[in-house]
Amino acid sequence: MADTQTAYELRLLFQEPGCPVCALGQRVSSRYVDSLFYESVNDPGVRARLRASLGLCYEHAWLLIEARLSDALGQAILYRDLAETLLERLPEENQRLDERALHSLNEALTPEAVCPACESRAQAEARALQTLARSLERREYLAEFEQSDGLCLPHLRALLQQEGLSRKALTAVLAHQRRRLEGLEKELAEFIRKNDYRFQGEGMGAERDAYQRAAALLTGRRRPASKKELGLR
Ligand SMILES: [Zn+2]
Ligand SMILES: [Zn+2]
Repeated sequence: MADTQTAYELRLLFQEPGCPVCALGQRVSSRYVDSLFYESVNDPGVRARLRASLGLCYEHAWLLIEARLSDALGQAILYRDLAETLLERLPEENQRLDERALHSLNEALTPEAVCPACESRAQAEARALQTLARSLERREYLAEFEQSDGLCLPHLRALLQQEGLSRKALTAVLAHQRRRLEGLEKELAEFIRKNDYRFQGEGMGAERDAYQRAAALLTGRRRPASKKELGLR
């Protein structure tokens, strides 16, 4: 994907809740999984790749099901293939297991490759961080970034390690992160105050989910729950 495309996608995500780098990683990896199941589940190369990782990781396997990223048939084809793979690797009933057999069984049941959706997400996030570091040098781009919720902590740390980010841009990013964190801290205080029985009549406002936004800030953007949230049809 061209750098300008990544810069453009990020700009759109500045308008959405949560860390834009997380959001881009979630979208790109979901598009990847989506196409994997719609077009390539019968492709021998794709099958081999999914066999190497023994399917998807916990997070992506359940994302597929819960956000309906793939139809049931595509998943049934994949899981049948993996069931056959595992059946070949598990010992026959009553097979004697010595130390060596246990060792090779352990190897046979361990994935050789990472989850392909995790791999796609890591690549997209790396590209997003590089692009962000370069694009934040432009004043208009920085101004658009300052409309966003800012980066989650893992991606802020990753941005600090990017080459090509000037001190000036970095200072502006950190000031934005600080303003966002101050706002969130006030909302958390308000949430705590309103939980006091003396103020319960006041009712919750925007602070009602402040603790969830704090979790997102510290660990990464919330898992998407639907195709719509992922920008998929
Ligand atoms: Zn993030
Ligand atoms: Zn994964």
